[in-house]
Amino acid sequence: MEKALPIILLAGAEKNIYDELAAICKNKYQIMPADNEYECNNILTNHKVEVILIALNVQVMDGFDFLKTLAQDSRYKNIPIVAITTHGDSETEARAMESGATEFVTTPLNETVVTYRLRNVLAHCHQAEKDERIKEMNRYIEIDSLTGLYNREAFYEKAAEMIKENPEVQYSIVYLDISCFKVVNDLFHNETGNLILKTAANYFQKKINPQIGLSGRIEADHFVLCVPQDTLDMDRLMKELDDTIKTLGISHNILFFGGVYPVIDVNLPVDQMCDRARMALSKIKGNYVRRYNFYDVGMRDRMLKEQMIVRDMEFALKDNQFTIFLQPIFRPETNEIVSAEALVRWFHPDSGMISPGYFIPVFERNGFIVKLDRFVWETVCKFLRSRLDAGKKIVPISVNVSRLNFYSFDLLIFLLNLLKKYDLEPWMLKLEVTESAYTDNPQQLIKIINQFKENGFPILMDDFGSGYSSLNMLKNIDIDVLKVDMAFVREIELSERARTILLMIIGLAKELGMGVVTEGVETQTQLDYITNMGSVDIQGYYFSKPLAVKDFVSLFDKYDSLNTQV
Ligand code: C2E
Ligand code: CA
Ligand code: CA
Repeated sequence: MEKALPIILLAGAEKNIYDELAAICKNKYQIMPADNEYECNNILTNHKVEVILIALNVQVMDGFDFLKTLAQDSRYKNIPIVAITTHGDSETEARAMESGATEFVTTPLNETVVTYRLRNVLAHCHQAEKDERIKEMNRYIEIDSLTGLYNREAFYEKAAEMIKENPEVQYSIVYLDISCFKVVNDLFHNETGNLILKTAANYFQKKINPQIGLSGRIEADHFVLCVPQDTLDMDRLMKELDDTIKTLGISHNILFFGGVYPVIDVNLPVDQMCDRARMALSKIKGNYVRRYNFYDVGMRDRMLKEQMIVRDMEFALKDNQFTIFLQPIFRPETNEIVSAEALVRWFHPDSGMISPGYFIPVFERNGFIVKLDRFVWETVCKFLRSRLDAGKKIVPISVNVSRLNFYSFDLLIFLLNLLKKYDLEPWMLKLEVTESAYTDNPQQLIKIINQFKENGFPILMDDFGSGYSSLNMLKNIDIDVLKVDMAFVREIELSERARTILLMIIGLAKELGMGVVTEGVETQTQLDYITNMGSVDIQGYYFSKPLAVKDFVSLFDKYDSLNTQV
C-alpha cells in the first residue's frame, strides 16, 4: 500500500496560490483547500492535518481572526501554522507572528523556501509532540496512581526544588501516618483502606495551594507535606483531617498522627527532612492525647546514640564491656545489709560509662535485653560462688528480669542450670519483675511466677505503684517483696496524700505477708517518715549508691564485722 502523504490544510487561498503550492508539494504533501472556517473545521476534525497554511491579506475571510482562534485552540496546539503573506509586506508578517503563526512564507512562492520551511516546522512540531509525551510520561512516573499525589521520589525532587527556589520562605515538612492502618485493612476490606487514603489525599490537594506547597504519599499510609511554616496550623489540619475521614462513616476510629520538621537546614536532602519529621512523629505514636509533635535537635542526638548502642551491643557483650554494680539494701532496724540489687553498667571504650537508663529501653525494643539479663544473672552467680568458695558470708542478690524474658520458653531451665553450674541455692538469687509485665499478659506472668516459686526463687515486684494495675495484681500473684517505686518516696516530704498511700501500701503488704523495700531514699527526713510507717528495707543513695563489686564487698564486710562485734 502506498504511504499516505502528510496533509496540508490550505485556508483562504486564491486559486493561483493553490496551484503554485500544489506544484511545489506534488508527491510530498496532500493539499486540502478550505474557503471558510466551517470547511477548515471539517477538515481538521476528519483528517490528521500536519500543517495549516493560512493566506492573509485576502478578502474571502478574516485570516487574522481565524489564525488567532486556531492558535488558541488547544486541540490544534501541536499543528504548526504557516502564514502566507505578500512579499515585502513586513507589517502583515509581524501581525501574523503576533497572532500565533509558527512561520510564514511569501508570495510568489519560492519552491526551495517553501519546501524547507515546511520541513522545518514539521520537524519542530514533532519535537514539540515528543516533549509533550515525555511530560505526560513523567507525570505518570511522578504520580501515585492510587491517590494522585506525588510519589516518594517526585515529592523529594519537587520539595527540594521548591525549597531551593524560594530561599525567603521558611518551610515545614509534615509527616502524617494513620494509627493502626493495618488493622483497618484487616478489619475491613482493602477498598476501605484505599478509600481512606484517597479521601485524605483529596483533602491535602484541596488544602494545599500547589503554587506554594506540595503533598505526596511516601508509602502505604504515610503522607508528607511541604508547606510554608506561616500557613501551617497543625491543630486545624488534624481536626479537618479527622472531620473529613469521619464523613466516610467507618465504624473504626481512624486517627492520623503527625510529625513536623521545621526546615532549619535547607541543605539537608529532603528524604532526611522527612526522616526527622517521622522521628518527631514516632515519639508520640500510640499516644492519643498528643496527635502531632515537632522535631527538636535533641531527637537527632538521641537517635544517633541509639544507633551507636545498637551497632556496638553484640561486640560489647563479647568484649566484656558490661559489668555489674551492686546496690546494698539496708534494714534500718538492725543496721544490716540484707541484700543487694545487681544493676548493669556499660563501659564503652569511646563514650565512657553509659547509664542503663539509655540502653535498657533500646534493648527492650530490639530484644537484646534477654541476652544481657542472662549475662547479668550469670555474673551474679559467679560472684556468689567466689564468695562462698572464699568462705565469706553472702546475702541474696536481686536481679532484674525484663518482661521480654517471659517470652523465652527456656527461662526457668536457664535459671535452674545456672544454679546447678555454680552450685547455688535458689534463695540466693531474687528475681525482680516489673508491674508492666503483668499488664502485658497477666495469665502468662502468674503461671511463670508460680513456677519460679515452686522452684524456690524469691520474687520481688519492682517499681510498685508506677503503673495502673498494682493493687488488683497483688491479690492474684504470689510475690514475696514489694519494691515501692521511687516516685512515692520523692513525694512523701511534699504531700500528705503520698504519705497516706505509702502507709496503706506498707500495711497491705504486711497483711499479705510480703516484705517491703522502698527505693530511692536519699534523705534523713525521708528515712524517718518511712521507718515510722513500719519495718521496711531501704535501697537508696542515703545509705549507698550502686557500687563496683569490690567496693560493695568492702562495705559489706565492714558492716558484717561491725555487727558480729556487737
Ligand atoms: P530499677 O530496677 O528501678 O533500679 C533502681 C535504679 O534506681 C538504679 O538506677 C539505681 O541506681 C537508682 N537508685 C537507687 N537509689 C536511688 C536514689 O536514692 N536516688 C535516685 N535518684 N536513684 C536511685 P540504674 O542503675 O540507673 O538503673 C535504672 C534502671 O535500669 C533500673 O531501674 C532497671 O529498670 C534498669 N536496669 C538496670 N540494670 C538492669 C539489668 O541488669 N537488667 C534489666 N532488665 N534492667 C536493668
Ligand atoms: Ca530493679
Ligand atoms: Ca525499681
